[in-house]
Amino acid sequence: FTATEEEMEQTFIMIKPDGVQRGLVGEIISRFEKKGFTLKGLKLQTVEQSFAEKHYEDLAKKPFFAGLVQYIISGPVVAMIWEGKGVVATGRKIIGATNPAASEPGTIRGDFAIDVGRNVIHGSDSVESATKEIGLWFPDGPTNWQSSLHPWIYE
Ligand code: ADP
Ligand code: MG
Repeated sequence: FTATEEEMEQTFIMIKPDGVQRGLVGEIISRFEKKGFTLKGLKLQTVEQSFAEKHYEDLAKKPFFAGLVQYIISGPVVAMIWEGKGVVATGRKIIGATNPAASEPGTIRGDFAIDVGRNVIHGSDSVESATKEIGLWFPDGPTNWQSSLHPWIYE
């Protein structure tokens, strides 16, 4: 198969507290798995306010920042690293638009959310933010394993 090391990307995906409370963990993981992406890190964790503020530091000046942080610390989240060719951009497509009112049906937010402040899932918006977010959430890095399915997923 020809997916080269350079083409392989990793992204940080987080199922937010509403997604965990609503029992959407299996459904969400299933969508990334079925697409062909590889799970490289996974944990259920409740984070502190300072940690949530760090994760969303680029949004610190937004009027919804305080509410966003309270939402993220309101219960456990599922933090994941997913790997694959183009996984950052494709992961965002699987997730759908930020505001579920604009998310297409078939996307996670389009299928499972209504309000922008309860939109079920986070995904890194660039390779650069993925690197930063993976470093924050998984200081020991991803789990090192190679899927034997690559020849059936990559040409
Ligand atoms: P995305 O999660 O799609 O990358 P942003 O990075 O712009 O979106 O925003 C981070 C999160 O902040 C969103 O997923 C959503 O939970 C929340 N958020 C964004 N815009 C609003 C808003 N106008 N009101 C309330 N919450 C918002
Ligand atoms: Mg974002």
